[in-house]
Amino acid sequence: MMPQPPKLSTLYSPAVIANRVAAMGLEIRALYPPDSDANPTRITLIGVLKGSYVFLADLARAIPGPVEIEFLGVSSYNGTESSGNVRITHDLRADIAGRHCLLVEDIADTGLTLDYLRRALEVRGPASLRVAAFLDKPSRRIVPVQLDFIGFSIPDHFVVGYGLDYDQLYRNLPEVAILGKA
Ligand code: 5GP
Repeated sequence: MMPQPPKLSTLYSPAVIANRVAAMGLEIRALYPPDSDANPTRITLIGVLKGSYVFLADLARAIPGPVEIEFLGVSSYNGTESSGNVRITHDLRADIAGRHCLLVEDIADTGLTLDYLRRALEVRGPASLRVAAFLDKPSRRIVPVQLDFIGFSIPDHFVVGYGLDYDQLYRNLPEVAILGKA
């Protein structure tokens, strides 16, 4: 017997994603008021590699006004299971002290990665630190994390596409799909 390819079922189409991300960009800018000289606030977007790269690219273009882009690399997953063992594999290039930072994550699952990253970044003295998660799986949470902006809340399914992988594949799928469902 030939091995069967994994089954994918669409959860969010590219058009639905685009609408939501456009709205998020405006929601985000609205929470960063101009400074005392009426200059728009510069927001430092910190994308968590690799999963957030597609969301980050779209979100950055949906936020009006000045944004900077930084990347953090972390690893914590083997296949579809969280190891809970978060490790920074690529650190920020910039000193974020005094900056308004927005951590951009693909998905909040157990919350372990975001909890770890929030602590690791807070000690560097940013002016503010908020979190934007494209997807949220609240039923899987092990540690509570504050998500300031959420794209979509989803049930407990393993999803791929729009930057999210399964064993490094499917990141280039333009939709979000549930893996393993017909
Ligand atoms: P957490 O530390 O919250 O358990 O997991 C965060 C990371 O696990 C995410 O950034 C993402 O890389 C990965 N992850 C969690 N759930 C999923 C999922 O449904 N699909 C994929 N592809 N990755 C997931």
